[in-house]
Amino acid sequence: MNIIMLGAPGSGKGTQATRIADVYNIPHISTGDIFRENIKNGTELGKRAQEYMDKGELVPDEFVCDLVIDRIHHDDCANGYVLDGFPRTIPQAEIFDKAIANAGEKIDVALLMELEDEILIERMEGRRVCAKCGAGYHVKNMPSKVEGICDECGGELIIRKDDNIETFKNRLVEYNEKTAPLVPYYEKQGLVKKIDGKKGLEPCWADITGILDSLK
Ligand SMILES: [Zn+2]
Repeated sequence: MNIIMLGAPGSGKGTQATRIADVYNIPHISTGDIFRENIKNGTELGKRAQEYMDKGELVPDEFVCDLVIDRIHHDDCANGYVLDGFPRTIPQAEIFDKAIANAGEKIDVALLMELEDEILIERMEGRRVCAKCGAGYHVKNMPSKVEGICDECGGELIIRKDDNIETFKNRLVEYNEKTAPLVPYYEKQGLVKKIDGKKGLEPCWADITGILDSLK
């Protein structure tokens, strides 16, 4: 089963992709991982990737696509794969579609984790983590018993640096501009299945397995 995950940052698509990979025994492929692997293994693609990075140049869509195509033709993708964070733009999707069509392959489903921006922002703003033991909380959805104090160890609950709300909002704007147009793009191909992200992790997972099992 060849799966594409769609959804905004913070929508939970990465978590669901990891679980799909585990349960359906197919690799979870993210472009960041492929970059690192190729560079680490000193492949031809890795050398090219390193050059772009050294020069500080934007990596061309064709090259990102080459990396992904190379990755999905590894033996462990014989039964399929789940792509997470690729394609990121319409041009990438077009190049990718052409390449897999040439290889006689296709995407089976594009799973869209649907969540409104306001909810994504609220989720992000409320996230807290224990400075001492790393336990995760949310001021509204998963509060600690005593405000600001970890239930597990009594440590102080803080906002992670990565959870900077302005950075997150910028990522969301970029997603809406560049990546969200992939939804109508794949809808035209009849590939999009929508998951209501508001339902929470487990109900979403049940929907996903229902969809994937029906495609087998
Ligand atoms: Zn703690």
